[in-house]
Amino acid sequence: MKNSWNDEDASEFAGDDLAMRVYTSRLLGAEEDLVLHGGGNTSVKGTATDLFGEEIEVLFVKGSGWDLKTIEAPGFPAIRLAETARLAQLDSLSDAEMTRQLRSLMLDPGAPSPSVEAILHAIIPQKFVDHTHTDAVVTLSNNPAGEDILRELYPDCLILPYVMPGFILSKQVYEAIRDIDLGQYKGIILMHHGVFTFHDDARTAYDDMIELVTRAEQYITDRGVTEHPTEAGATDLMDLARIRRAVSLVRGRAQLAVLDDSPDAVGYSRREDLDAIATRGPITPDHVIRTKRIPVIIEGSPAEGVPEIEQFASDYRAYFERNGHDGLHILDQAPRLGLWRGRGSIAFGGSTKECGIVADIARHTRWCVQTGESLGGWEALPEKDIFELEYWVLEQAKLGKSSGPGKPHQGKVALVTGAYSGIGRATCEALHADGATVVGLDIHADTGAALGEQGMLGLVCDLTDDAAIQAAVEQVVATYGGLDIAVCNAGIFQSGERIEEHSAATWDQTMAVNLTATQRLLTAVIPYLKLGIEPSILLVGSRNYSAPGPGAAAYSVSKAGITQLARVAALELAGDGVRVNVVHPDAVFDTALWTEQALENSARRYGMSVDEYKTKNLLRREIHASDVARLLSTMASDTFRATTGAQVPIDGGSDRVI
Ligand code: ZN
Repeated sequence: MKNSWNDEDASEFAGDDLAMRVYTSRLLGAEEDLVLHGGGNTSVKGTATDLFGEEIEVLFVKGSGWDLKTIEAPGFPAIRLAETARLAQLDSLSDAEMTRQLRSLMLDPGAPSPSVEAILHAIIPQKFVDHTHTDAVVTLSNNPAGEDILRELYPDCLILPYVMPGFILSKQVYEAIRDIDLGQYKGIILMHHGVFTFHDDARTAYDDMIELVTRAEQYITDRGVTEHPTEAGATDLMDLARIRRAVSLVRGRAQLAVLDDSPDAVGYSRREDLDAIATRGPITPDHVIRTKRIPVIIEGSPAEGVPEIEQFASDYRAYFERNGHDGLHILDQAPRLGLWRGRGSIAFGGSTKECGIVADIARHTRWCVQTGESLGGWEALPEKDIFELEYWVLEQAKLGKSSGPGKPHQGKVALVTGAYSGIGRATCEALHADGATVVGLDIHADTGAALGEQGMLGLVCDLTDDAAIQAAVEQVVATYGGLDIAVCNAGIFQSGERIEEHSAATWDQTMAVNLTATQRLLTAVIPYLKLGIEPSILLVGSRNYSAPGPGAAAYSVSKAGITQLARVAALELAGDGVRVNVVHPDAVFDTALWTEQALENSARRYGMSVDEYKTKNLLRREIHASDVARLLSTMASDTFRATTGAQVPIDGGSDRVI
């Protein structure tokens, strides 16, 4: 493990303990092999002045919701040190009471709650305390001879057996150190959990952590195999979409299915002993809230309906029956991680962030498992211990709101064409705000950057190129596991040519972009939408369909064409649960089609001011791209679950349409 201490960087924080605490915490947080996603915690002891001007001793300890990688000073709430340490003397302390007591000891009750390990940090006498869940030490403690190995490797550390984190762990450490000088030890090794180091000097506490971890890493590289089989994968996207659907149905809401088909993920999934080594449990218990106790193993070409997922759910119910007790409610039974034989691993979750956490844990887990096997076998903690942690309220609290049902499109995947500007862009934003994972297609070269900035995926795509459409749709499924919402919005508008003088080029191009591309896109997305969750197709038509004007024949015909296409699609797809609806906007002026000049010209033609022209409808209301976008997002939602084949005007009311 590389020691990243840098004298020059550190000199900036000399004399400021909290700033120094932030600095070395971030050094630890930057190493995935030390802490992953909010794992680990650190603290520093110091003083603070209360309202009466009195100096009191406090513990600045990592607050919940902060990640060591990005932590800042406000991420270390101050709690009264002596009172916090004294809690360890109690014989027992319920989770609820501990949480309440810790909150009552905070100097600023508005700050984030202190770590569940706060009491442990408080009872360690040294000023700086560093705690990680390092892969290397965890791997060794998961060995059948783990305790012997660690005792041999760490004669200068206190080694303690696994117990539940929180008060029970604090109590265990309290009993172990109350009558000794902890300074004689370089660290505390917690079996199946991690490492604590401590010192009055920030650098020494950090150096000790790196040194202890390096020892375990050295042991592993000397005796074990650390490079594991790699293979190229080949993904069947329809199978992936089927898997995603099966998991979403068990979960009761849409889930993303993010495939990792990197060579080492595929190599792991091809191992002959996969079923035996991958289902023993998590490498460290606190992964259970992210990945469940075990992954689901899915065959390379799963049978219709992917029976593995139902089997997982029923096994999970049995696991709950075996370990649960009165008053405990079973959590959802859907897997969070799939090992797909010969194809890689799949992270399931309601957002790309959630999936990213699962994928990172999966990557570390397969390394630890395979490396552990090469060192004489690996074993996880007993099921009962994992269960207790999974159902521990303080662990579940870490998931916070992110695990709730949340927004209407949470977990859904949406595809929008014409996404760079106007109604398309606004629709991407509306769907994204409603929780969907959004992919926007546009011919504009900056689409990727523009949508990327907003946390969406933008793909440059020429919709008149069939192969490009197919490739884009496949990329969506390969990236997120499926598709639920398709918004066909891209269109061009050229006016001023009457039929007798209509150029073939204008006609052909309008038909190609507005009509044919829509049909091609539907052809490409329908197979995946049939496997989607509450799937919905939305087409952006135009008021011109029912109230055409002279000089825009190609445009009007193309919009009439897609309206008819939508009606046929609604009939064909209803049996598969796919809804197809059309919105007919008019007079949406904040789009790329309307320049200021074009607006002035049109207003003049009607003898109106621009403002009058913009509200030239029955309701006298200006219509924005965002209004159309909100309508589209709502029509894709549950609110419209019983509506298909509908045409909804959004034009402020037109006497020619009504
Ligand atoms: Zn820990």
